[in-house]
Amino acid sequence: MTERTTAQRSTQEWQAADAAHYLHPFTDFKSLAAKGSRVIVSADDIYLRDSDGAKILDAMSGLWCVNVGYGRTELIEAATRQMTTLPFYNSFFQTATPPAIELAELLAQVTPPQFNHVFFSGSGSEGNDTIVRMVRRYWDVLGQPERSVIISRNNAYHGSTMAGASLGGMSGMHEQGGLPIPGIVHIEQPFWFELGQDMSRDAFGLKAAGWLEEKILELGADKVAAFIGEPVQGAGGVIVPPDSYWPEIQRICDRYGVLLVSDEVICGFGRTGHWFGCETFGFKPDLMTFAKGVTSGYVPLGGVMVGDRIANVLIEQGGEFNHGYTYSGHPVACAVALANIRVLQRERIVERVHDDTGPYLAEQFATLMDHSLVGEVQTCGLMGAVQLVKDKATLATFDPALSIGMVCRGHCFGNGLIMRAVGDRMIVAPPLVITRAQIDEMMALIRRCLDLTLADVRTHGWA
Ligand SMILES: *Cc1c(COP(=O)(O)O)cnc(C)c1O
Repeated sequence: MTERTTAQRSTQEWQAADAAHYLHPFTDFKSLAAKGSRVIVSADDIYLRDSDGAKILDAMSGLWCVNVGYGRTELIEAATRQMTTLPFYNSFFQTATPPAIELAELLAQVTPPQFNHVFFSGSGSEGNDTIVRMVRRYWDVLGQPERSVIISRNNAYHGSTMAGASLGGMSGMHEQGGLPIPGIVHIEQPFWFELGQDMSRDAFGLKAAGWLEEKILELGADKVAAFIGEPVQGAGGVIVPPDSYWPEIQRICDRYGVLLVSDEVICGFGRTGHWFGCETFGFKPDLMTFAKGVTSGYVPLGGVMVGDRIANVLIEQGGEFNHGYTYSGHPVACAVALANIRVLQRERIVERVHDDTGPYLAEQFATLMDHSLVGEVQTCGLMGAVQLVKDKATLATFDPALSIGMVCRGHCFGNGLIMRAVGDRMIVAPPLVITRAQIDEMMALIRRCLDLTLADVRTHGWA
């Protein structure tokens, strides 16, 4: 692996400057300052290098985004070329740039057939702000302005702007800043392990979808604009819904004319083994949010795929849509996205996840069920979750105050593996280019960290 560190500061110097000036997202500033950040200086393929020179297997793809792996010259060259030719121009004033036009065209090809138009944003959160504006505008134009409520789910993640965090169902986020904003309501999530253990997964999936119908009837269908969900909840803990869930959600949305929005920010561009999560789960959304994997995270880009049902109304009857971002269709971001999608196509990466590495990950994760700490494993394409439990037989969970997930994550950090903890659910979403041999390497690290966590549990008498 090549070393590309340019600045030569010691880890302590980086940490001191970081603590003095840098407020990190989703971070307790004081405790991080006391502990010091892990400073990542370079990366190649699926491996990171920190400022002490340690090599780390990045089983989270940066933050669910570096799907084609680090150090891809195609993406780097596309950015360099576009920066040289035209680093920026907007698309507000009856103007456009070639990369934005070409990306719009290519996105219409790789997304499901109902999608022929795109609205670009700079991130997934902004994309979901656009969703709120657009679904309400759609019903306005159709003469039903009171049809404005958007239904989402507890423990959903839809970003961190005012609208994104409101659509999301993270109670910690709602506690700060007066959220959710009006007109957004939540139903329970399709999380079998927590809510459905007394029934079969498929029966539970139908029950969980039924909560949408109950909410629509409670509010009145003439008040409900849309339902939004991630095909697989990512940040919520890689919660793979029962197979029965999404087709039933589709039926309910169709029955009441409610728009169906798929937040594909994580699931899009191959993560689940199809190009989009809605294809894996068999539903047909009216709108899709995307970001992260569209550029493999090399530069920020997001957006909304707008289905024909909505696009036709907005184009034919909508007049001016009073919404947009300076960086909507940023030419450098679009050039990188084009290069990224072409890599996915040329190397048949999505097919590989579907036919080879996804099933292999599923097989390997299933073997973790022999571990005394593991109560459930779930995978979908190249995302996976390991639920830690106190008692395998009863599936009793640990006292949350013990933060067993964080104990396990600490061992991962210490042993050269980036794995995330969501409560006591340990999750991975490795780059889509990970090989079978690298999955073996990751599994060995996961096992080692589970063993170290189990040793802690026994030493401290936590179970
Ligand atoms: C990350 C994420 C977002 C927010 O994207 P940002 O680019 O961080 O604003 C929205 N939805 C889902 C499902 C995500 O995982």
